[in-house]
Amino acid sequence: MHEPQQQAASLGQEEVSNWVGLSRFMEQHLHGTDDMARLTLYGCISAGLKMKLQLGSHAAIGRDGKGYAIAVDPGTTIQLNYVLTRLCAHPDALAKFRSKPGSLARFRGKLGPRLTGSLSLPRLMNGRVELLFGGSPEAPSLPPDPKLRHHLGGIVLFTLQFMFLHELAHVTSGHVERSAQLRRESHALPRAQREVFLREHLEPLEHLADSISMLHLGALINVYAAGARRQPDPTIRGDVLDWLRLAGFGLGALFLLLETFDGEGGYHPTADTRAIFLRAYATTPKTMPPGFEHVSFDEGTDALELGYRDAIAAWDALGWQRNKATWSTMLGEQLLAKVERAQAQVTPPPCAVFPSPPLTRARP
Ligand SMILES: [Zn+2]
Repeated sequence: MHEPQQQAASLGQEEVSNWVGLSRFMEQHLHGTDDMARLTLYGCISAGLKMKLQLGSHAAIGRDGKGYAIAVDPGTTIQLNYVLTRLCAHPDALAKFRSKPGSLARFRGKLGPRLTGSLSLPRLMNGRVELLFGGSPEAPSLPPDPKLRHHLGGIVLFTLQFMFLHELAHVTSGHVERSAQLRRESHALPRAQREVFLREHLEPLEHLADSISMLHLGALINVYAAGARRQPDPTIRGDVLDWLRLAGFGLGALFLLLETFDGEGGYHPTADTRAIFLRAYATTPKTMPPGFEHVSFDEGTDALELGYRDAIAAWDALGWQRNKATWSTMLGEQLLAKVERAQAQVTPPPCAVFPSPPLTRARP
């Protein structure tokens, strides 16, 4: 851990605590000795941080051809802080999670620049910063609101955990091997068709990984909110739903960043498409992972969706570009059918007994 500690000296306190926390979380989740149910496969997965200081995460076969490796780039924390600071410049963003306006009266005049509509989004790239969408490179000040700051810390933490769980889902579902196979097949195609072929086949795997990681993050949030409680407890329902909504805000911000920064072989669906798929997936029968027991899956999904709709609304309010799609049930059904076809072509590795059933809809 020598190198990451040296690197950390140039990062802010928030980023350091988040990514050290993530490192511990990944190790505990895979190899911890608590009573959480773990797949046998977890024993041959190692997880760590890659130090490119860019946005992203990755799952691959281990270096010696054995096992699997998952890496999350701590640059993700920096990018998340950049984007969350700017999204929160919109007075409506996370309004429910700010102190009451009256209690901030003493800070009047110190709230920093109001929403200008011309903020740029910095992107870390190969040791330099690129500014997207024009406007001012300055970061707006966050309101000196302890409640909002506390919630932003949670949003970053849950978003990083989602990224890790998304990569873990790629491993446990056999996507690592499938992706390698697709890339090999693509070499036989003319250059112009290669990108289309890969996007067509890899995007459904992203949706699958999203759906699995969403379930597991939802379970974790239930467990965090419940603490030592073992039985379903309706009195913490509000807390769980609030944190799911905040996590949804982080997921929305992450999906938008990945869409905007795509183009380096990531093949990420657009933020709208990912949200539409998750909405459609919510209607399919499924077995919930252990822990997801203090709110129903439906109300949990609604809370997450409210959160990522909030993030998308704040993004649009800043005037930033993205690919927009109409949220329709029909599009969701089409995506589900496409993802089902992709899932049928994937074989999970031995020892990966996924706790949720295959993605199939109830047939009349
Ligand atoms: Zn992925």
